[in-house]
Amino acid sequence: MTHFLNYIDGQWCDADRSLTVMNPGTAEVYATVAQASIADADRAMAAARRCVNEGLLSDVRPAIRSQWMLKAAAAIRELVDEGGLIACRENGKSLQDAKDEFLESARYFEYYAGMADKLEGTSIPLGKNYIDFTQYVPFGVSVQIVPWNFPVSICARSLAPALAAGNAVVIKSPEISPLAMTLLIKAIEKAGFPQGAIHLLCGKGTEIGSHLVQHPEVDQIVFTGSVPTGQRILQDAAHRATPSVMELGGKSAAIVLRDADLQTLLKSVQAGIFFNAGQVCSAMSRLLVHKTRYEEVKAAVVAMAEGLVIGQGESQPDMTPLISKEQQTRVLAMIEQARQEGAKILTGGYAPELSGYFVAPTVIEATPDMQIAQEEVFGPVLVITPFETEQQAIDIANGTVFGLVAGVFGESLNQTLRVAQQLRGGQVFINEWFAGGIETPFGGVGLSGFGREKGQEAIYSYVHTRNIAIRLQLD
Ligand code: NAD
Repeated sequence: MTHFLNYIDGQWCDADRSLTVMNPGTAEVYATVAQASIADADRAMAAARRCVNEGLLSDVRPAIRSQWMLKAAAAIRELVDEGGLIACRENGKSLQDAKDEFLESARYFEYYAGMADKLEGTSIPLGKNYIDFTQYVPFGVSVQIVPWNFPVSICARSLAPALAAGNAVVIKSPEISPLAMTLLIKAIEKAGFPQGAIHLLCGKGTEIGSHLVQHPEVDQIVFTGSVPTGQRILQDAAHRATPSVMELGGKSAAIVLRDADLQTLLKSVQAGIFFNAGQVCSAMSRLLVHKTRYEEVKAAVVAMAEGLVIGQGESQPDMTPLISKEQQTRVLAMIEQARQEGAKILTGGYAPELSGYFVAPTVIEATPDMQIAQEEVFGPVLVITPFETEQQAIDIANGTVFGLVAGVFGESLNQTLRVAQQLRGGQVFINEWFAGGIETPFGGVGLSGFGREKGQEAIYSYVHTRNIAIRLQLD
């Protein structure tokens, strides 16, 4: 069985303990990974601090960092097939989706390579007796905590802008799906970044993750994961007032207006809630449909869900398993709770008789106040609800504690834009769920978090502004 290692101070390191990683498609053990100790975490933080203090990243000409980033992108592209297969087997996702994580990671490095040398400050006029300008300064040591649902691409999403801006990075991989990330770091290792710039540790969140975010050497925290963990980390960050980016969960709604095109909508619903078995923070987990289209849309969505082929990722099915037995049990329990509250299970709601951790594609008719319509399921479960007026749809869409993304489907530019501008969230899709890309800013409001990843805006999450104000000695 393959055993994967941690990456500390330029070395691949084993540990006394190890964690077991399952293949969710077969429910069999797939590999093991070294479980980092507190001493390993301290070593990584000390090496990152040394890299920062010696200015190995921040003091070089930014164009050099761009070149490292481009070399990293090229090396990542070479590992798409090898890394994709590992990501597919450890995570359960389809082989193509797993490869796409590596392709997307390469794009993050290419994109932020282009920004490393464009962090330009401004000159501020204060009259002839003063010269005043700003500089963007990297925070220093960035601790980045990664979730299991897209471990490779989410790792690259935060790592690339952090490095481009000149930070050293200590990454905590998710204990349940840490393997493919090691290939990402292997690729980046070839690019010439200075020793101490990047470290990868796998360990328990409550042990290593918690230690890292409270570490005396931490200058910034980037957390992507669930709301309760994010809240815990914010409390820990408060002791040192550590600047943080929080990318948390969602309960995102799509509003279907009376003139929406059915085929366009169906494609988006399939991707929106069944891609990665619904284990997507920005999943379309609620569908709000105008009453004149409700029966038609409901029937079409149920038929689409029932037509999906379920299977292991390597067979490239329409829908793959959940990450773990625990996640499968949690999703089924939430469906059962919905049933007890009086929601109607229109299709799915059960675990198919397959060896992996599957849940059938599920569509539930529920009212907005029910738990299933309020809480994040993180599984292939769509809640469908009718509405009568535009205002009612907006109120229901905005009526949760989250605010990550939202969507509107309809033909009228006027109405779709009018509705879009009233939806709570960091990103609103019109007529295509997941429209946008690595170039478009992404992040939440409310309990979905704060700070932005992706796009040009994200790099400013990895720097602070220094103002230099000069009093001239005039003759
Ligand atoms: P999680 O919160 O359980 O774990 C996320 C990471 O935090 C893991 O690496 C874990 O080991 C670590 N961790 C746990 N306790 C910690 C602690 N006390 N201190 C420091 N680190 C700790 O989340 P998950 O189950 O891995 O991921 C699913 C969640 O992530 C969902 O809620 C999903 O919506 C969210 N998510 C958000 C985004 C986004 O960009 N907004 C993207 C993907 C996933």
